[in-house]
Amino acid sequence: MRGAVMYAPGDVRVADRPAPEIINPTDAVIKLAATCVCGSDLWDYRGINPVTQPTPMGHEYAGVVQEVGADVTSVKPGQFVIGSFFASDGTCPNCRAGYPSSCVNREFVGGCQAEAVRVPLADGTLVATPAQPPAEFIPSLLALSDVMGTGWWAAVAAEVTAGSAVAVVGDGAVGLCGVIAARELGARRIIVMSRHEPRQKLALEFGATDIVTERGNDGAAEIREMTEGIGADAVLECVGTPESMRQALHSTRPGGNVGFVGVPHDVQINGEELFYSHVGLRGGPAPARRFLPDLITRVLDGRIDPGKVFDLTLPLEEAAEAYRAMDERRAIKVLLQP
Ligand SMILES: [Zn+2]
Repeated sequence: MRGAVMYAPGDVRVADRPAPEIINPTDAVIKLAATCVCGSDLWDYRGINPVTQPTPMGHEYAGVVQEVGADVTSVKPGQFVIGSFFASDGTCPNCRAGYPSSCVNREFVGGCQAEAVRVPLADGTLVATPAQPPAEFIPSLLALSDVMGTGWWAAVAAEVTAGSAVAVVGDGAVGLCGVIAARELGARRIIVMSRHEPRQKLALEFGATDIVTERGNDGAAEIREMTEGIGADAVLECVGTPESMRQALHSTRPGGNVGFVGVPHDVQINGEELFYSHVGLRGGPAPARRFLPDLITRVLDGRIDPGKVFDLTLPLEEAAEAYRAMDERRAIKVLLQP
């Protein structure tokens, strides 16, 4: 089987890898219809996260069940399925509380930039579509595996409701999906911070009402100016840097909430400042599995089209070029076809 492997920062190659097999009776093996490169893969690619050994890459997947273990009952071979980047059992107290990405038995589903992947805890992790989806829906269904689920989580964590004024920090694929989520949850105003014309365009198409190009304190000041001088009700932090978090906190009104879904790198939060700001903070790895049934319906009903974040499609064999294009910001997000 062919699959993308990162050997060192900046060095991704497609190599022969052992085909996945059922190891535990709760596993499934999926033949991938599509996979993609995540913004978080770039942390490794840029050497910000250490790469200590050759690592099979990718954690986003959608495809057809090839084989299931003896204990799997909820999906069967031939079904089209989507799952989250964290496998979860669906039964533990954290799963029942709506936090499958903190499942006590969670396992990271890695190595998805490949022809096939083994998914542990298949019953809790995978959701099947009602029928084989038409090809044009596959990018949007793939997006539910991570980016759209994460954007949705950012909006839910920030408590976006009907009538909210929302600000989105980050114009990557997750931030853009956060715009879709805010619109679907009824936000009346959606302000996106972006300096990149193609991303601004997509944000507006997804439902953004305003674009702010200023950054840092100036950007936060502009958002407060647009919101009666107090800040947005809900702010979606979709980057994970000290600057983006500061910007998010300073753009939120007292009593408002920040949903933070960018994996933090060196982010420090000042307790005293947070105390006096009256801002609520919730984030973490998206419980993407929680949202899958609802989001699959929204995609298949044609209500949302998060697959538009894929502005470049390449064959899996060209994974190295996919990483380069995202690293150089020539592409928002690259879909890989096995
Ligand atoms: Zn669980």
